[in-house]
Formats: sequence, structure tokens, C-alpha cells
Amino acid sequence: MRVGLYPGTFDPITLGHRDIIKRAAGLVDRLVIGVAINRDKGPLFSLEERVSMIEAETKDLMTETGIEIVAHPFENLLIDCAHDVGAQIIVRGLRAVADFEYEYQMVGMNRAMDPSIETVFLMADAQYQAVASKLVKEIARLGGDVSKFVAPDVEKALKAKLSN
Ligand code: ADP
Repeated sequence: MRVGLYPGTFDPITLGHRDIIKRAAGLVDRLVIGVAINRDKGPLFSLEERVSMIEAETKDLMTETGIEIVAHPFENLLIDCAHDVGAQIIVRGLRAVADFEYEYQMVGMNRAMDPSIETVFLMADAQYQAVASKLVKEIARLGGDVSKFVAPDVEKALKAKLSN
């Protein structure tokens, strides 16, 4: 059984993430979405909120792909998280050249720690390639329309959070 681990902060999950999840589901038998606690990044949404948004936004993808997709919070090293969930593959999304440099280093370090785990990179559909949680939050904070970048329930959650 091929298990993939797609790690990130998902603060919040965007249509870009969803597109990567859908593509990744075509490559593995079980997909674990590793939700990094990431206290340092000062996430807007709590870990519980991020996990429940991921669960809600991936429910239909489970039916569509027939693959089990589960959200798994983690605070330890990515490679240890991969061992914990039995993943042989780490999935990452690539947007622009800026992502590449960081990802390149991560692969190198993770490979040194466990050469048996392979990292694969996927690109989202053209319409979602530039979508980033950070920018979505900025746009929402300034009252802009984020409906092209996140699902309707995530948009609602952003509005509710930012009006507090
Ligand atoms: P991180 O904090 O690790 O950047 P994110 O939650 O921002 O985590 O993203 C998780 C993963 O999803 C990363 O590999 C990131 O590059 C990828 N990703 C996010 N948005 C997109 C997108 N629009 N297209 C492709 N990959 C994406």
C-alpha cells in the first residue's frame, strides 16, 4: 500500500492545495495531509480549525478518487511524521522559482536523514498556480474577494475570523 504525506500549514486550505491533493490522490493508495502546528508562523486559524477545514474540503475528493484522505497534525520532524504515518512518499506543491530553493534544501536534508523516502513535486492547474494562503489572508483582511482562491466555507471562515 502506497502512502503519501502532503505536509503544510494550510492556514487556510486553498483551491491550490485542493488541486494538489486531488493530483496526489491519483498517485497513492492513502493520502495523509500533515498539518504543521507551526506556532512560529503565527497561524490565523487554530490547528483544530485548519484540520476541520481540510476534512470538510476533501470529503468529496475521497468519494471522487476512492482514496482515503486524512488530516494528521504534527509538530515533530517531517521525516519522523512520515515514519509515524507509514508514508514512503512526501508530496509538495511547486508554485514558482521562489518555492524551488527552499524545497531543494528540504529534499537534500530529508534525504540525508532517510534516503528511502522520496519527495515528489506537483504543480497545480494554471488557474491555481499563484494561489498562496498568505496572500489570500492579506486580500481578505483588506476586504477583497477571495472566492476564486478558496472554497465558499473557507471564505466564510476567513470573514468571521477577520471580523473578530
Ligand atoms: P508551507 O507553510 O510549508 O509553505 P503551505 O500550507 O503554504 O505550507 O503549503 C503546503 C504545500 O502546498 C507546499 O508544498 C506549497 O508549495 C504547496 N502549495 C500551496 N499552494 C500551492 C499552489 N497554489 N500550487 C501549488 N502548490 C501549492
